[in-house]
Amino acid sequence: MKNIPKDLKEVLNKDYPINIGKIIRREKSNDGSIKYLFEYEGGHTVEAVLLLMREEEKNNEGNITKGAKYTFCVSSQVGCKVGCSFCLTAKGGFTRDLSAGEIVAQVSYLKKENNIDENKSVNIVYMGMGEPLDNFDNLVQAIKIISDPEGLAIATRRQTISTSGISSKIHKLGELDLGVQLAISLHAVDDDLRSELIPMNKAYNIDSIIKSVKEFPIDTRKKVMFEYLVIKDKNDDITSANKLVKILHGIEAKVNLIYFNPYPGTPYERPSRNSMIKFQEQLIKKGLMCTIRESKGLDISAACGQLKEQVNDNS
Ligand code: SF4
Repeated sequence: MKNIPKDLKEVLNKDYPINIGKIIRREKSNDGSIKYLFEYEGGHTVEAVLLLMREEEKNNEGNITKGAKYTFCVSSQVGCKVGCSFCLTAKGGFTRDLSAGEIVAQVSYLKKENNIDENKSVNIVYMGMGEPLDNFDNLVQAIKIISDPEGLAIATRRQTISTSGISSKIHKLGELDLGVQLAISLHAVDDDLRSELIPMNKAYNIDSIIKSVKEFPIDTRKKVMFEYLVIKDKNDDITSANKLVKILHGIEAKVNLIYFNPYPGTPYERPSRNSMIKFQEQLIKKGLMCTIRESKGLDISAACGQLKEQVNDNS
């Protein structure tokens, strides 16, 4: 701002600093997805990813016939307290919550960097580093700013909160009735395996999560997404598929099967394509909508926390 006096600028800088971080690294994948590493005050880093879901299409005259579609994967915390055994972020422990401004800044920077204006279709998924519902107040504030017509004008129905399943917070979020979508990282059909993968399951088990989802106000045009990380010989068999159908009975659910993406030091293995397809077919046969997530950005550091790990290793 050039139209305010120097003295006032100094006061504003001192008393009202805008510390919303900066991008310190970018990695572009062959499929168009881009992973960004943000650095915030104190040198803390988090990741955000831009996924190109559909390229822009033009006719022979050069007019746009179909606009591009993007999904932004946004972080909510530096590190994470949940401690999932398959997750690199968990290995670094928890450092701090991001402020609402720091969350909004990821969306803002990604739009600016990629020249994405208001007319282009953007969906946001809070599923980067951190458990979004563990940073409840800042997350809700960020959602309100991002959806506000005077803010970034991205409707709440385009924003999905992906949670490892803190059922008490799912309930609290439901009471606010913001119009956001839910995605639950279920990953297992019995509490023993789920507790091995997500230790927090001991406090919020499968039954409590399903109950909180059933009570959540869901946009009737939408479904609740259940993420299921498929790990070879752990949860990729047909018995697990049948159990999953039973657990999700009565919920407008969609299951997204995710290949486990191995990283150095992990005890888990990637499932075969064949077992993924058989699992998917079984769910569809029983009437559940089911997709297999084709990992975008496999040629870059695709799993949550991997880009940050590389930077730490190189520095
Ligand atoms: S998978 Fe998500 S919730 Fe689990 S430890 Fe990693 S960042 Fe946290």
